Amino acid sequence: MAFGDTKRPVAAKRHVCVWCSGPIPQGEKHVLYVGEWQGEFQNWRMHEECYQDASDNDYLNEGFMDGDGEMPERVKALAQAEREQRQPSKK
Ligand SMILES: [Zn+2]
Repeated sequence: MAFGDTKRPVAAKRHVCVWCSGPIPQGEKHVLYVGEWQGEFQNWRMHEECYQDASDNDYLNEGFMDGDGEMPERVKALAQAEREQRQPSKK
């Protein structure tokens, strides 16, 4: 069983989703969990839809590894956009 608090903050800066390893962009409302799981301190963030996915499949109680989840299509598009931004502009 997981014990802790989930909050729904708006990202003040970019974060990474612990479920799908995708980017949580600045300004996005997401899930922040701070608490304890099996005696270990936990502090992670997820996309709202990733959190739904994880809780629907009972991973929040069973435990999961970083990046265990499937990346939602919306997040794939975000990650792709970031990669393109990072590429040096060709002038
Ligand atoms: Zn995610």
